[in-house]
Amino acid sequence: MTQTTTEAQRAASHRKIDTTAKRRLAFAAVAVTGVATAGAAGAGAASVQSADRDDATIALAADARVLAQGSVETTSLESDAQILSVPQTQKIDGLSAQLSDALDFNAARVAADLLSRTPATVKPTEGTYTSGYEVRWGTMHKGIDLAAPLGTPIVAAQSGTVIDAGPASGFGNWVRIKHDDGTITVYGHMQTIDVTVGQQVIAGQKIAGVGNLGFSTGPHCHFEVYPDGVNAVDPKTWLSERGVEI
Ligand SMILES: [Zn+2]
Repeated sequence: MTQTTTEAQRAASHRKIDTTAKRRLAFAAVAVTGVATAGAAGAGAASVQSADRDDATIALAADARVLAQGSVETTSLESDAQILSVPQTQKIDGLSAQLSDALDFNAARVAADLLSRTPATVKPTEGTYTSGYEVRWGTMHKGIDLAAPLGTPIVAAQSGTVIDAGPASGFGNWVRIKHDDGTITVYGHMQTIDVTVGQQVIAGQKIAGVGNLGFSTGPHCHFEVYPDGVNAVDPKTWLSERGVEI
């Protein structure tokens, strides 16, 4: 009974070994099936001795991994190629936008550069200072006079918006400009006017030509400054404070 049991156990053990070997073979066969290039040679190697089977199984498994890795790499390469092809298209599309942005940026930079080079305040006209901000003939002369030949350019003292341009009592003609900080400058007696109401002007831009119209005893530019838009100050001082000497 005992012996029979032992024999039965041995038999079972053999079967177990056989089963294990079959599993190995089956695994090797699966590995071989998975490795197409191994083919019949791989299957032949798997059907030899037990020790060799293990080696064959390991070798085949290793081959399968290598091939599997190769397969992954191939997929990865294909994936990379797809990823590369998409950015290339985007780069071309983006290039136009980037170039446009760059040009816009450069145009803005050039404009800003020119603006930075433009004096914030300039002398209204090149002429001889003949009268100041003072009481004259019993009345307050609220500006300065710069004598110059007829037609001499009168320019905007600062950048701003033209709020008056045309005939005015006492001035003959006048131009008034409101600047960004609310200051209003006034130019009088001009013979010609180059701007219209609502026009944007920059410092130094010609707005009129010197004249002798209105209450004037000779060709000159009469210039007034109202920092708060209402109360006049001495234009000579105002200009000097801004780096312009008369
Ligand atoms: Zn005057």
